[in-house]
Amino acid sequence: MSYPIELVRHSLAHVMAAAVKKLHPDVKFAGGPAIENGFYYDFDTEYRFSEEDFAAIEKEMRDLIKSNGRFEQRIVELDEAKKIFADQPYKMEWLNEYDAAGEKLSIYTFRDFTDLCRGPHVESSKDLPRDGFKIQRCRCVLERRFEK
Ligand SMILES: [Zn+2]
Repeated sequence: MSYPIELVRHSLAHVMAAAVKKLHPDVKFAGGPAIENGFYYDFDTEYRFSEEDFAAIEKEMRDLIKSNGRFEQRIVELDEAKKIFADQPYKMEWLNEYDAAGEKLSIYTFRDFTDLCRGPHVESSKDLPRDGFKIQRCRCVLERRFEK
């Protein structure tokens, strides 16, 4: 099955987040929408990513893609969502906002990475190009949003 390129790119952002989570379990995830000519994901971490990390993340992504992981959607209640994202402050903020706006809380799980996301995505990572992506940059934005 072939998918629109935006959908492939956005799905790759989830795969990248899953890869980063595996390599750096303490990362706090913000969001990863598709962009005009690629994909990105914002995360918050003490660890300073650099270009030297790209090869390891890309390898992990290729392994994840090879594993034919499915993108499984569930609609959850606020209580359950709060448990799932207890250690993810950005997601917590958004799910409270979505809930206050009366929106359904849609979550997607790909392998060990569960995200608050409306989708859509490819059905399985077998629909993603195993060698058709490359991480090009990381940019550090110093920000302290959750300081008391
Ligand atoms: Zn998504």
